[in-house]
Amino acid sequence: MSLPTTPGPTTESAPAPAPAPDLRGRTALVTGAAGGIGRACALRLAAAGAQVRAVDRDADGLAELAEAAARMPGSPGALRPQPLDLTDLDAAERAAAGVDILVNNAGLQLVRPIQEFPPEVFQTVLTVMLHAPFRLIRGALPHMYEQGWGRIVNISSVHGLRASAYKSAYVAAKHGLEGLSKVAALEGAAHGVTSNCVSPGYVRTPLVERQIADQAAAHGIPAEQVVSEIMLADSAMKRLLEPEEVAAAVLYLCGPDASFVTGTSLSLDGGWTAH
Ligand code: NAD
Repeated sequence: MSLPTTPGPTTESAPAPAPAPDLRGRTALVTGAAGGIGRACALRLAAAGAQVRAVDRDADGLAELAEAAARMPGSPGALRPQPLDLTDLDAAERAAAGVDILVNNAGLQLVRPIQEFPPEVFQTVLTVMLHAPFRLIRGALPHMYEQGWGRIVNISSVHGLRASAYKSAYVAAKHGLEGLSKVAALEGAAHGVTSNCVSPGYVRTPLVERQIADQAAAHGIPAEQVVSEIMLADSAMKRLLEPEEVAAAVLYLCGPDASFVTGTSLSLDGGWTAH
């Protein structure tokens, strides 16, 4: 019996590279846009033609980002800095009104054993990384539902899927964000709105540089040992991810090839969650 042939790659010609999504006419809001990953996402979305509302509490960082966006070649979409502290939840919800794409990215980290973890920091982490995304989604959905199209991308983490010691607030917030994202996917499906998480391992950003110092203090070991023996211990690939690689995943989730992708978590973790 001959087996049916299945379509597959041929050696005759390499497939043409997929075009970048065309986001002209779309408005995107990126939180934490002055930081490592948020900045890369904001620039990639602007380069794809979106009008980007860049939100962060770091006004100087946003001003610098706007200058970088203005220097980009071609005719990218505009980038508008919007300084905002996301602990002002009412303001966060208002800021999201009218956006077509929402990237919930802002975050912070404190590495400390539970019995020493300051309750007020736990509260702030949950507010910025879970409560604010809820309010931003809440603010964004009416316009998305009205037009029958919307993209919600939540920057989670491998710590949305796995735990690590000393990161109680961060792990709790990210696990919560994964759940919130799935609920938004279920509710949004009938309205053309997708909601997904991008869940990276360690990315080369200021947040990680601060964590390396914190972990070194917590474990009493040198910084290089933190990276090689603690941070990347569970990663099959022994390198840090670059912010641009996370931004590329975000772009994919906003583009036409991902229209059936919702309620999922796109792990960029070098094999960490394969364990
Ligand atoms: P980062 O520290 O470089 O950037 C975070 C940004 O969030 C900063 O610009 C900061 O000002 C902003 N922010 C914090 N609190 C805020 C508030 N109250 N209001 C407004 N803005 C606020 O960090 P990053 O590494 O780019 O992280 C971005 C996201 O990616 C976070 O959610 C983080 O958890 C996630 N992440 C990072 C890594 C990593 O290894 N760097 C890995 C997985 C997930």
